Amino acid sequence: MLIIRNCRLVKELTEGYSEEYADILVQGRRIEAIKPVGYHLKGEYEEIHADGMTLIPGLFEMHAHLYGFIYNPYELQCMTEGKIIFGALDFANEYVNQGFTTIRDCGSSYNCVVSIKNAINAGIIKGPRLVSCGLIITPTEIGNDTFSDLYSEADGPEEIRKACRAELQKGNDFIKLMVSGAFMNEGADPGVQIAEPEEIEAAVRTARRKGTYVCAHCHGTSSIKAAILHGARTVEHGTFLDDECIELLRNNENTFLVPTGAVGLYCLDESNADVSPELLAISKKVAQTEINNINKAYQAGLKLGFGSDIDLEALRANPGYEFIARKEYYSFNDVDILIQATRNSAEIMGLGDQLGTIKEGKLADLVLVDGKPDQDIYDMAKPVVHVLKEGEVLK
Ligand SMILES: [Zn+2]
Repeated sequence: MLIIRNCRLVKELTEGYSEEYADILVQGRRIEAIKPVGYHLKGEYEEIHADGMTLIPGLFEMHAHLYGFIYNPYELQCMTEGKIIFGALDFANEYVNQGFTTIRDCGSSYNCVVSIKNAINAGIIKGPRLVSCGLIITPTEIGNDTFSDLYSEADGPEEIRKACRAELQKGNDFIKLMVSGAFMNEGADPGVQIAEPEEIEAAVRTARRKGTYVCAHCHGTSSIKAAILHGARTVEHGTFLDDECIELLRNNENTFLVPTGAVGLYCLDESNADVSPELLAISKKVAQTEINNINKAYQAGLKLGFGSDIDLEALRANPGYEFIARKEYYSFNDVDILIQATRNSAEIMGLGDQLGTIKEGKLADLVLVDGKPDQDIYDMAKPVVHVLKEGEVLK
């Protein structure tokens, strides 16, 4: 038994307990009980003194590329499998260091995330909960060479089915499909839809057959609509989303938007040597549109997931990057940002019954934060004090 004494709780992230301060009992992998401060525990136990600091549920990163421990895709393409796997592990550990206990990898080379996941599950190494797609399925498209080691090109429903099955066969958990072009792919047009409806449908059917879902990369308006209408689970980025897209997503229990604020902010940094003049120019051109559109989606009350889409160097240099991006780049409320990073993302990933809030019986994924991040989100940029995954103290 472990007891975390005198923690401050955020009411929006706590279920079944209404006071602000509590002692949290953790037994094995789960939260055993939430008790008023000063709980007397018999027998042997370990304890952590929270001293009034805030305890929140383990954080979710819904859009990571763990293989991308450096920004430059061409350098990554020249690396050996071993280097990529250890780089991805380093990235996963940095996420844990910042309080993330669940990471959804939206595309990595060498199937490295499955290798790491297997090693964690076998108890060889410690790490976060990993959910992965393997390679990204994409129609043949200009610019794919920029990330040639990251894509599996497939055209038409039959090739799409085969490509999807191949990634699931390798032990991955869901399918990532390029439905529009991408900003970082040289020569590509992010505003243009590149997957046909029957290709999206083929991916969705193949995924559903295996009890999983499609995560759709979408910038352009028509690509977002097509992804929603053909049953994708998540729409990533959503840059050029319009009112009709918002209407389609409102009260939609099947498809959810995962904005990626940190990568937007990162690509606007003029002092950033990683960002080419071309990418900087296009980022500047679309930034205000994206900001307006995502803020509109937020104002409409959509359940948003939490994704950042950045590399390890950027994450390390900017702790809590996505929290800050959602405050400064978009204009979200502090507590809503925390809800997105926990409860919302857990629900969108189908893990809401086990994770996402602090509740008796749920898995003990817990993060102790110095400050009151629900009132001042910048507290998420400070080093977190403790991180537990399923009752195990990882930090
Ligand atoms: Zn991405």
